[in-house]
Amino acid sequence: MIQYIHNKRQPIINGIESGVELMGLRTFKGGVHPYDGKELSKDKPIRELIPQGDMVFPLSQHIGAPATSCVSVGDSVLRGQKIADAGGFVSAPIYSSVSGTVKAIEPRRVATGDMVNSIIIENDGKFIETGFERCDDYTSLSNDEIIKKIQNAGIVGMGGAGFPTHVKLSPNNPEKIEFIIANCAECEPYLTSDYRSMVEEPEKLITGMKIILQLFPKAKGLLGIEDNKKDVIDAMQKLVANEPRIEVVPLLTKYPQGGERQLIKACTDREINSKMLPADAGCIVDNVATINAIYTAIVEGKPVMDRIFTLTGDAIKDPCNYRICIGTNCNEILEQAGGFAKDPVKIISGGPMMGFSVMDTDLPTTKTSGALLCLTIDEVSKYETTACINCGRCVEACPENLIPSRLSKFSDHGEKDEFEKWYGLECIECGSCSFACPARKPLAQAIKTMKKQILADKRKK
Ligand code: SF4
Ligand code: SF4
Repeated sequence: MIQYIHNKRQPIINGIESGVELMGLRTFKGGVHPYDGKELSKDKPIRELIPQGDMVFPLSQHIGAPATSCVSVGDSVLRGQKIADAGGFVSAPIYSSVSGTVKAIEPRRVATGDMVNSIIIENDGKFIETGFERCDDYTSLSNDEIIKKIQNAGIVGMGGAGFPTHVKLSPNNPEKIEFIIANCAECEPYLTSDYRSMVEEPEKLITGMKIILQLFPKAKGLLGIEDNKKDVIDAMQKLVANEPRIEVVPLLTKYPQGGERQLIKACTDREINSKMLPADAGCIVDNVATINAIYTAIVEGKPVMDRIFTLTGDAIKDPCNYRICIGTNCNEILEQAGGFAKDPVKIISGGPMMGFSVMDTDLPTTKTSGALLCLTIDEVSKYETTACINCGRCVEACPENLIPSRLSKFSDHGEKDEFEKWYGLECIECGSCSFACPARKPLAQAIKTMKKQILADKRKK
């Protein structure tokens, strides 16, 4: 069993101390070490995937108000043309990634299982673009101009959260922001899209970080990278050698190291809870794909149209990383990749710890779709749940210092008050407790269900 070295703190940046430290690498307390499966796709260079079929653009692919369509059935559109306006400040516009004709505006199923109103575009296969205005000297832009460009480009948290980036970069007290943390951990097993981006296009991440730092003159940029990406750590350290405001922070490889709270703790020794924003602790956290999108929007003048996507799992004939046009159907990605080598038993949109299990691959990709994972074994249903043996492993694994066994009991018995009293709302739904439990109890699922009910009750009030 790993012994964490609590209370051993090493001074790092400007007197800020690290969180828990193990073998010279910064990390957080708790977490688990699942099989990472990254060897299937990590050495596969990014391939361009040219979609041929219809494209589907759900109007809600971010946190906040859904976007509102600004095109009608029958309209011709170009690649890079806005097809939906933001539905408010906490929202984001949507752009077509192909040229073609609007075929329908109707509900379509997305990876979460919900039916979401979507714009369907018949792809003409020509990819005729609108004009894009480059800006090589971004230092000439004012803060307002940068934020406006990010907002207009439709950038949202592309690591899965989908929170509009212009909102995140407009905190109440910008002068109090001390750290911009790039989440380069990619701690979810199997996912390699961020890794390939950092190997193949590292300058996008560094320039994107410099653009964000321009907004926050007092802040330092930290690239938090897990030590299973030693080549990236070395390459980034060389690239930032003459960048006094950017530092590489090597992190212990451990799930959920890329969780926002865990990353902040590991990089700065600061802590936030469910009632706080990272900005309350002087931090802003963005993942690799989001920072790359900032580079693309500001320097190349292009809105969010494409993203890097990992198609992987032992059921896939040729696991790989693709640059996809957002809106491409997962079936088309599967087809172009050569399909299945074996029949999949479990298909997950995203990673195995926090992704969504899906029944069907007839799904559109969105700004937050990072992967499709197809497995021949369902690890969860393979084993039967047995009684709790009070081993405490779930407690040890929980990065939020919760008692998952107890919280799950409260959930089973509908004891909402007790659940709240024992800090159940602090759960980040990482799944570490379920993974660690030898009795195979679906702890995280039970806790997540209770959390949903309590938050729904609070919204009603
Ligand atoms: S209780 Fe929540 S935060 Fe703790 S390990 Fe389980 S899922 Fe993660
Ligand atoms: S890990 Fe499972 S068996 Fe062990 S205490 Fe937690 S719920 Fe019980």
